Amino acid sequence: MWRIITWAWRTGVITAAPRALEGPAPAGTKGRPALDPERCIGDGACERACPTGAIALGPVAPPEHAAGLARRPFRLDYGACIFCGRCAEACGPAALRMTEDYALSTRRREDLVLRATVPAVAGGGADARPAPRAAEETK
Ligand code: SF4
Repeated sequence: MWRIITWAWRTGVITAAPRALEGPAPAGTKGRPALDPERCIGDGACERACPTGAIALGPVAPPEHAAGLARRPFRLDYGACIFCGRCAEACGPAALRMTEDYALSTRRREDLVLRATVPAVAGGGADARPAPRAAEETK
């Protein structure tokens, strides 16, 4: 044990960043999917296409004002994502797109979870309910 400690003391830090992380990703690399919440319609197509359950959309919430859109929470867990790209293929409005960003290491698990609130179309997703406008709700 003492030999290991003295050896570590003498050599210091001898690890370095992997070469692959130093420059741009090789052409054709599939990295994490990125979300453009303004393009998203919250229909849940990505959630249904995801083979690992990395994407979850929450229940539709009514709009905050009469002219507003109903919205629903969107959650993408990069810790469960395998970068397969099925969500981006299933996304009609191209709100999800694959990037070349694959270096996602972090010290905190929660840093791997993307949370957003997206517009919700009526009838979208497995647990979606109709998305009434606020004025219709008061009737
Ligand atoms: S890339 Fe694949 S695993 Fe990752 S969120 Fe999209 S469908 Fe799910």
